[in-house]
Amino acid sequence: MAYIEPAPIKDKENPFESMMSRFHIAAQHLGLDDQVYNVLKSPEKQVIVSLPVTMDDGSIKTFEGYRVIHSNILGPSKGGIRYDMDVNIDEVKALAAWMTWKCAVVDIPYGGAKGGIKCNPREMSRGEVERLTRAYTSAMHEVFGPDKDIPAPDMGTGPAEMAWLMDQYSRAQGMTVNAVVTGKPLVLGGSLGRTEATGRGVMISALAAMEKLKINPFKAKCSIQGFGNVGSWAAYLLEERGAQICGISDLSGAYHNDNGIDIQKAIDYRNNNNGSLEGFDGAEKIDPDELLLLDVDVLVPAAVEDVITVDNAHKIKAKLIVEGANGPTSAKADSMINEQGIMAVPDILANAGGVTVSYFEWVQNRLGYKWTAERVNRRSDRIMKTSFQKVYETSKKYDVSLRIAAYIVAIDKVSKTYTYRGGF
Ligand code: GLU
Repeated sequence: MAYIEPAPIKDKENPFESMMSRFHIAAQHLGLDDQVYNVLKSPEKQVIVSLPVTMDDGSIKTFEGYRVIHSNILGPSKGGIRYDMDVNIDEVKALAAWMTWKCAVVDIPYGGAKGGIKCNPREMSRGEVERLTRAYTSAMHEVFGPDKDIPAPDMGTGPAEMAWLMDQYSRAQGMTVNAVVTGKPLVLGGSLGRTEATGRGVMISALAAMEKLKINPFKAKCSIQGFGNVGSWAAYLLEERGAQICGISDLSGAYHNDNGIDIQKAIDYRNNNNGSLEGFDGAEKIDPDELLLLDVDVLVPAAVEDVITVDNAHKIKAKLIVEGANGPTSAKADSMINEQGIMAVPDILANAGGVTVSYFEWVQNRLGYKWTAERVNRRSDRIMKTSFQKVYETSKKYDVSLRIAAYIVAIDKVSKTYTYRGGF
């Protein structure tokens, strides 16, 4: 593969470059054809829209919205929509490609996409967020579709935004189209089990990895960064399986209790405290940077990108990292993690439980039928376990990390599909 320029990584890592450097390594192991490499390295479609929205004070503010479709070779593209001030096209491009690999790793019939709006939903009223969501949906009307591109929640969005999106899209179509988006409220065709799905998949991946490392879950100590939907559910479900959660954190700070934090108590506290752990007294407040470095068995970064970097990777004491967030480990830190003998279950595998249950939601919408929570959980657990095993075996076969193995599994599937379908 001499024709492939090594993917450059600058000092301040850019998420797209981070994604590309792993893609590059996996492509080399697979001996990927250069034509397929060139197709998969760039997104199929990038849409940037300008969204004028009337604010509560009567002024008009213009927001920038993005949707990137990395690939729809495997099926309609799938991926969440992020509302955050840090949203930018490079991040959305990386997240869209990660969705392609994620759907391929767990073998669901979707391509990858991601969207976002540069905004701070915490500083906006509910009405402003609703108008922004409707403006975005209108602007993306030609992009979205139940057989084309199916959005879902991501950072800063949840069931309420998905409901507005579904409603706005349906109005324009003149009929209810609930399969155009997943992560909806239950009454609008949401799926049982979707809310906890990503955290549940993190728990299943963590248990599968602990089994390989011979870590007894009942003796395992865990530290979890981020106490939003993914982190808090992962914490709750890991605790339920016997693990002790010794560290948690959110934007208000990090909290440590070596004897284990009562997670139900922390969730109740957060729910009654405007979504924040500020003032939580079930643990001692520590420096947020210390949370990743606690003397625990399992570390779950479930917040944002690039938190495990060359600056702190050498100080991590955990034996296992399970990536609840997308892109929490910078590409440059990968080799440091590997050299320390730490097993890292990569994002595109560990947090794939969310999109897996999104797929089940879409299937139920199309069937016009509702599954029980037991059926949803049983099927998603099975997919997570099978996918973990496949990635684990691939890592042995190629003698690579679980991360590169996951990319190998994904790129192999996508490239084979591409080869059969052909190009122009
Ligand atoms: N935003 C989630 C992710 O990054 C879910 C995507 C989906 O369900 O389509 O995996």
